[in-house]
Amino acid sequence: MNRYKLEVDTHCHSLASHHALSSIGEMLISAQKVGLSAFALSDHHPSLHCEQDGMVIHAPDEAYFHVFCTRYSAPKDCGVGVFKSVELNILDHSPWVSPFYRDFNNLFDLTIAGVHQFPHLFSAIDNEEHNTEILLNAINEGDRPQFNILTHPISSDLPLNMDTVIRECTNRGIALEVNNSNLEHKKHLAPLIKLMLQKVHACGGRIAVGSDAHMASEVGNFSAAIDLLEEVNFPPELIVNNTLDSFYLFLDELKINN
Ligand SMILES: [Zn+2]
Ligand SMILES: [Zn+2]
Repeated sequence: MNRYKLEVDTHCHSLASHHALSSIGEMLISAQKVGLSAFALSDHHPSLHCEQDGMVIHAPDEAYFHVFCTRYSAPKDCGVGVFKSVELNILDHSPWVSPFYRDFNNLFDLTIAGVHQFPHLFSAIDNEEHNTEILLNAINEGDRPQFNILTHPISSDLPLNMDTVIRECTNRGIALEVNNSNLEHKKHLAPLIKLMLQKVHACGGRIAVGSDAHMASEVGNFSAAIDLLEEVNFPPELIVNNTLDSFYLFLDELKINN
């Protein structure tokens, strides 16, 4: 029997992210087909918007998030739930996590955040100490965590002290993400992510497995992540989204901490 149920996908983008291809309706149909109980729709934070080398990179605006958070709910008869989320940007300057101008604090079910290397957000520096310090500022910003899952924490062009980042995330109740898209598109990262899994296990931290889907057919695709989980025999009870129940427990914890 498969030890890894992964009933919830914690990281998915819809058409609202502009560089993703599918509507929420199409994603729901895919999620139903692959047997997911729910997925978190986590479109990019508005601050991703920029112009680079003459190319405009669009991001959703705050009005989108407001309508999504206050008026959307998944059709009851489809059997798949949608959690309201956003993928925030970790910044290399204060504030360390991209803020909303409107108060979205109680509207999202959870928030996820990661480094996206665009000059206005986070300029990569080949200095482990510097990058780690910035991550720690973001992890520890505010009385309560500004985000609940650290997305794609491992990247070959962002050297970090993995032990420190894992320890601080664990102290703050933040889960580290195993990002299936990264594993599929950047195969050289597999040994580092394997190491991350071993370190998270050793310090009693937790992970979330996210597809980072940018189209309906990718929703709930965890195959590369599951291969690694099996290789290191990672305990399913340390995966916050292994079952719908474990995910609700994780969300309950966030409410208590909030
Ligand atoms: Zn991302
Ligand atoms: Zn993403």
